[in-house]
Amino acid sequence: MRIWLWFLGGAGALSTVAAIVAPGGKGALNSAILLGCLAVAAIALRRQRPEPRVAWWLLFSGVVASTASTIALSAVPNAPEEMGAGYFFCYPLTATGLWLIARRLRPWSSTRILDASIILIGIAQLTWLFVLYPLLHRSGLKPLDAIGVSLIAVCDMVTVALLLRLALAVRRSAVALLVLASAGVMVCTDAFYIVKYVAGRGAIVISSFSAVGWLTWALLFAAAALHPEARTALLRARKSRGDYGTPIAGFIALSLLGPGLLVADLVLRRGVDPWRHALVPAVLTGALMVAMVLRLGRALRDRVRLQQELAFRAQHDVLTALANRELFRSSLQEEIDAQREIGLLIIDLDGFKDVNDTLGHPAGDELLLTASERLRACAGSGTRSGATPEAGAPEPLLARLGGDEFAVVCRPEVLEDLAAALVRELALPYRVAGREQRISASIGVYSGHPVTTGEALQGADIALYAAKEAGRNRFVRYHPALREAHVAHTLLADQLRAAVESKTGFAMHYQPVVDVHTTRITAVEALLRFTTPEGNAVSPAVFVPVAEEIGLIGKLGAWVLEQACTDAKAWHDAHGISVTVNVSGRQLRNPAFADEVLAVLKRTGLPGAALVLEITETVLVTASLEETAEVSRRLARLRAFGIRIAIDDFGTGYSSLAYLRTLPLDVLKIDRAFVHRIEERQDKALFRAVVELARSMFLTPVAEGVETQGQASVLRELDCALAQGFLFARPMPAPTLAALLEERAATPAAVA
Ligand code: C2E
Ligand code: CA
Ligand code: CA
Repeated sequence: MRIWLWFLGGAGALSTVAAIVAPGGKGALNSAILLGCLAVAAIALRRQRPEPRVAWWLLFSGVVASTASTIALSAVPNAPEEMGAGYFFCYPLTATGLWLIARRLRPWSSTRILDASIILIGIAQLTWLFVLYPLLHRSGLKPLDAIGVSLIAVCDMVTVALLLRLALAVRRSAVALLVLASAGVMVCTDAFYIVKYVAGRGAIVISSFSAVGWLTWALLFAAAALHPEARTALLRARKSRGDYGTPIAGFIALSLLGPGLLVADLVLRRGVDPWRHALVPAVLTGALMVAMVLRLGRALRDRVRLQQELAFRAQHDVLTALANRELFRSSLQEEIDAQREIGLLIIDLDGFKDVNDTLGHPAGDELLLTASERLRACAGSGTRSGATPEAGAPEPLLARLGGDEFAVVCRPEVLEDLAAALVRELALPYRVAGREQRISASIGVYSGHPVTTGEALQGADIALYAAKEAGRNRFVRYHPALREAHVAHTLLADQLRAAVESKTGFAMHYQPVVDVHTTRITAVEALLRFTTPEGNAVSPAVFVPVAEEIGLIGKLGAWVLEQACTDAKAWHDAHGISVTVNVSGRQLRNPAFADEVLAVLKRTGLPGAALVLEITETVLVTASLEETAEVSRRLARLRAFGIRIAIDDFGTGYSSLAYLRTLPLDVLKIDRAFVHRIEERQDKALFRAVVELARSMFLTPVAEGVETQGQASVLRELDCALAQGFLFARPMPAPTLAALLEERAATPAAVA
């Protein structure tokens, strides 16, 4: 449907007829066509509701205002001057309409306003020089008329400037072209009208040209409103080339044009009064210069800012805006070159990888941001991350080295205080993805006069490893002995990887859990053993954390469970004993854990009631509430199959009792530290309290690490029936345990 084209063609043909039959806008046909255009435009605007609404209606009102004047002037013979007022009012209406559209397309910035004023002043200069001044100079108009004409000229120029701006901002379309053309025709027609008016010394004459112009304006506008794409066409902006590509050369040409023409004019028209003639152009040129200087200054400032931004990005981490690795290294190098004593902290967030894996990268970023804010707060307000430390009192440099690793370069005197504060602050709960998350930090501390940045970094790194190995959530200061430990650690990690791959070097040992009254074996705890290729036995207390760290604990734990259940099946069938298997926190967090355990039971034929899973309390304390809830659900599911859950090393962690209450538990294993001096009065009282607590929570207490008869008799006295320890039996290989069980079954139980 090309109604708008049909309309344009039809009405255009009619207009031509009207212009020939009755030139100068006289005659009923001309008025009828004008009114018809207005009616069509009004209906189209109501139907199509083009956006921006107000702007369209303002443009429409502009056409109405001038049409009213045209019709009135042509209909009334010797019409009074005031009837031409519509020609004036159409300006503010049209200009405001154009301004609204342009603003919607591309919001005004001070830069764009400056650009527009430069263009406007340029146009004003030309208009004054070539149109207005010659006209006014020669016409001998009354002063009031002269002011009126000047005002209209100013309006014309403003409208032209707005048209230019709109033409540059709007995406090209038929509608945009029609609207621009209609307003353009209006400006030209009015300018012509003024010229005529001035030439006719204030007499109102509508020339044929003006009449055709006004008609064309109304026609084009109505066609634009009719166009099927009118609704949104003026909302679509042309792709911006940004403010940097300002045509500076064009500006300079424009600014030289005014004064150049002025000089030329003065030389050519030597006769006229040069001062009156020059005053207005001089003022305009001055204004243009000011605008130009402001604009160039702004362009320069933008460029400088861009330069700074690029420089900052090259040296800083995008996420946290802390210094990046490059800036960190160069700052450290400067400190070394200045032969100052270096203070260095390397900070690593414990368990960050888990958060990132389970909650996703955006959550991980959120956590890192919070951590970096705490880092800033701790290292002191007013820290200029990225600033070169000044001589004397260098400010701390904060950097993100990548991932969850941060670094601080600071004065050695404040090093340990800062490290302690950071450990404290970074362990506070984090709010991430709408949940509360708990995470801690391990820090390596280094100070001294290193020869290279590498030496300082390695020292801090080794200390960081030591902090991790000592249980995380702490800082450790570097000393040379740590280096050996570090080397051993790396070696062990490599050996574990190889051993898991080849399934050699691992073995299960079993330590009996006995009834202290009868010494009958009720259960065995499965304890993993690792022997290095050189034949050295490594304690699980050492290698299990390493296996966790390098991501091997899942595979290893699965093997342990399978082996323990296989071995225990025969012992359970023959002697009714259970098996206790240690489970690492990382295994528990695996969503498939429950399924895997149930699958092992099915494969080995061990009943659920014969299996106890041992978990440490620290594992659960460091997890978030949601994660604990998740683990609880998993454990509860296993309990439904008769599997029991034991809390290991009770008393060594910092778990609250209220917290334990929320977990589905069956057994409480009281740590060796509580049993050790149980014969002394104070410790005995404490131990009794723990046993009573366990009973109140319907948990079976088990004493760990019983080494003496004295300890055993206190346990009997306190009626803590179940115990484990070297006194009864050391951990032993499966065949040895099997033999022991057979031997015990042959002889009746004796009281120890
Ligand atoms: P745990 O679970 O507390 O295991 C008890 C540890 O105490 C064992 O050390 C055992 O040999 C030792 N122990 C037993 N009775 C006595 C005693 O009377 N006196 C003394 N001083 N020690 C005694 P082990 O075998 O070196 O295991 C150390 C830790 O390694 C275990 O502590 C457990 O947390 C972990 N672990 C062992 N096997 C595994 C495993 O298969 N998986 C996981 N995740 N962790 C394991
Ligand atoms: Ca255990
Ligand atoms: Ca234990």
